[in-house]
Order: sequence, then C-alpha cells, then structure tokens
Amino acid sequence: MSENRVVEGRMVTPAKLAELIEGEAPMDAEEIADADRECPDCGGSVISVGYMPSVTEFVTGYKCQDCAWSETDRD
Ligand SMILES: [Zn+2]
Repeated sequence: MSENRVVEGRMVTPAKLAELIEGEAPMDAEEIADADRECPDCGGSVISVGYMPSVTEFVTGYKCQDCAWSETDRD
C-alpha cells in the first residue's frame, strides 16, 4: 500500500509534501493523513503531514490536493 498522495496532479511522498508546504526539504516526515477540512480557496480536499524542519521543531502542515493553498500550525 502506497502512502503517497496525488497533490496538484502529481504523486508526492510525505517528505515531498512537507517540502511543498515548508519551501525546503524536512529532516523527517510522518505519513500523510486526511485533514477533516476543506480548502478555503477552492473547497478541495486537504491533507496533512507532520514533519521536522529542524531537530528542535515539529510542525503539522496542511495542503490542498487541488490548488496551491497550504498552511502550518505555526501560522
Ligand atoms: Zn484548494
């Protein structure tokens, strides 16, 4: 079973999803999960991923599967 998901028309791994949200590759990323929310921009499905941008920080990031919208829980 693949844990990759389709985001904006392409398959992404957890690390790649975190990179799309963060703007740079994370040190580590957990599995992608479905977020129980809709994209505020387009109403599309939102997925989430927990990742570590650095050794001292853990962030949960959210990303729309259909458009460029994303945010993190530190916003
Ligand atoms: Zn969207």
